[in-house]
Amino acid sequence: MVVIELPDSSKLEFDAPVTAAAVAEKISPRLAQAAVAADLDGRLIDLSVAIGAGTHRFRVLTDRDAQSLEILRHTTAHVMAQAVLRLYGQKVQYTIGPALTDDFQYGFYYDFDLPEPLRAEDLETIEQEMARIVAEDLPIRRVELPPDEAKARFAKLGQDYKAEMIDDLVRAESVETVSLYEQGDFTDLCRGPHLPSTGRVKAFKLISLAGAYWRGDEANKMLTRVYGMAFFDKAQLAEHMERVAEARKRDHRILGRQLGLFLISDAVGPGLPLWLPKGTIIRMELEGWLRSELLQRGYQAVITPHIGKIGLYRTSGHYPYYEHGLFPTMPIGDDDGYLLKPMNCPHHIQIYKAFQRSYRDLPIRLSEFGTVYRFEQSGELSGLTRVRGFTQDDAHIFCTPEQLEAEITSCVDLTQLVLKTLGLTDYRVRIGLRDAASDKYIGEPANWDRAEENIRRVVRQVGLTYTEEPGEAAFYGPKIDFVVTDCIGREWQLGTIQVDYNLPERFEMEYTGADNAPHRPVMIHRAPLGSPERFIGILIEHFAGAFPLWLSPVQVAILPVSERFDAYANEVADAARAAGIRAELDPTADKIGAKIRRWTLEKVPYMLVVGQRETDGRTVAVRERQAGDLGAVPLEQALEALGREIRSRGAETAFAAEMTP
Ligand SMILES: [Zn+2]
Ligand SMILES: [Zn+2]
Repeated sequence: MVVIELPDSSKLEFDAPVTAAAVAEKISPRLAQAAVAADLDGRLIDLSVAIGAGTHRFRVLTDRDAQSLEILRHTTAHVMAQAVLRLYGQKVQYTIGPALTDDFQYGFYYDFDLPEPLRAEDLETIEQEMARIVAEDLPIRRVELPPDEAKARFAKLGQDYKAEMIDDLVRAESVETVSLYEQGDFTDLCRGPHLPSTGRVKAFKLISLAGAYWRGDEANKMLTRVYGMAFFDKAQLAEHMERVAEARKRDHRILGRQLGLFLISDAVGPGLPLWLPKGTIIRMELEGWLRSELLQRGYQAVITPHIGKIGLYRTSGHYPYYEHGLFPTMPIGDDDGYLLKPMNCPHHIQIYKAFQRSYRDLPIRLSEFGTVYRFEQSGELSGLTRVRGFTQDDAHIFCTPEQLEAEITSCVDLTQLVLKTLGLTDYRVRIGLRDAASDKYIGEPANWDRAEENIRRVVRQVGLTYTEEPGEAAFYGPKIDFVVTDCIGREWQLGTIQVDYNLPERFEMEYTGADNAPHRPVMIHRAPLGSPERFIGILIEHFAGAFPLWLSPVQVAILPVSERFDAYANEVADAARAAGIRAELDPTADKIGAKIRRWTLEKVPYMLVVGQRETDGRTVAVRERQAGDLGAVPLEQALEALGREIRSRGAETAFAAEMTP
């Protein structure tokens, strides 16, 4: 007897094993039509799966369930692989093709080993073949086979990667059978579940091509990754493609070059950004502002070298734990060598330890814009957001356990100030906890429990809503991450605050307590921006290159209507610079309309136009980047207003009051 318990607690009974599709049909033919897959006792299954004897919790998934999207996208990936095989022949090897559910741009991809490289124009051809496969409405069948039989099948198909994957499954999970999915002339090794037939794929689009190493390892062959997106309805797909187009317009790699902000030079190396003069201004403004905030909050700045002895990182646990992510070691001298530093903490700890510390000295807050190096795979590198050398707006706070929560609170406050000032007001807080099952975390469980409790208490007191995510902790302690949503709906992890009882133990740090006995300090690692490189990459996209006045590399452009007014224009430029405003004079003989267009493309916040009337009256005609013409304002008054907006970091707008109707 098969007993099916439905979500409303009602029960259906069957004498013999029954497929999920038949159960759906019994509930209602309309539901069976809409069914995508089913949830059987908390596990997702195909509609074709037969349900055996016993009592089961059962729910039909339709296109309204969030989980269905993943199934749809996975099936679309299979349809794409089938299309690629049909178009480019049996020499094509298909490797892995997962669905993506939390990627901003893509819903799935498939990696291929191809005899001939694909070009962007081929994507349309593949889409057309996919449309044919959808029109054929091929039933999708699940087959379970012993690993050897499955391997023989893929061997016959010439699919070597699949054989390797089956071997892995046997080795890692000692499986006795593996599941294959078939649709027409296409077979894939896959866990499923899938849609019942290819005809159920509705709205899809292939988006781009990329290179990807087999298993993400640079030592392996480079494969071709085809990315796409799929939804259950065409309107959602269209809306998504619009957002992707908007994201492309804002791509910081393109804007960074257009606006002269930064450069990645092949001669220097991938993932090692070079800051151009204009980008350097943005960075210095951000860092200068942060420095002044740190000073007010009792931080002391320090500077430490870019390398350190390996032993230092053995003590910290970065080595060998982080080894795969480090640049190769440098064998120097008698010791076992040096490392490019992956983190600043061990250096700051040495500064703490160089002196006898008393409870009266604490908290000690050491800050540094410290550059660190991590060897990211070259396929992972992307503009400023994934790099191999980057700076952290780092600090380490060493304090007594009693001082800890007040210090965490102050770090939360600083991070909130940073985000608010930059207009990143849409964020959530995530508490990253250790994963109790993993062995990658150092230190005593009791320390972890304490640190997690400290963090929870602060976050609750401040009144932040938060989620807890096991497995997201740093290897030495739990953390608070600020996850920001930018203006086109993408999420970025920015500021971080990490509580650490473990490194003070490993480095045997001490302070003398009021009882004259030695005690262990606690430490906080925190970085409100995270990294200026990454943060600015995100800001470029958030602002689409149109930075607020205080961060703009050129704050005002001075545009003489003709060369007759050059003398006064020069005077305006000098006065602006004397007032601490970054001003540039347009020296060209172009017509004023052309000048305005050029500086608008440069995204300069304000243009000051000067002609006969302005020269005579010692005024400037103010144009704002977005609002356009704001009318004539006396020169002194204009510079003062600009200065106010700069100093307020955008809290005040220079010409709101002066605006003429
Ligand atoms: Zn699959
Ligand atoms: Zn640190």
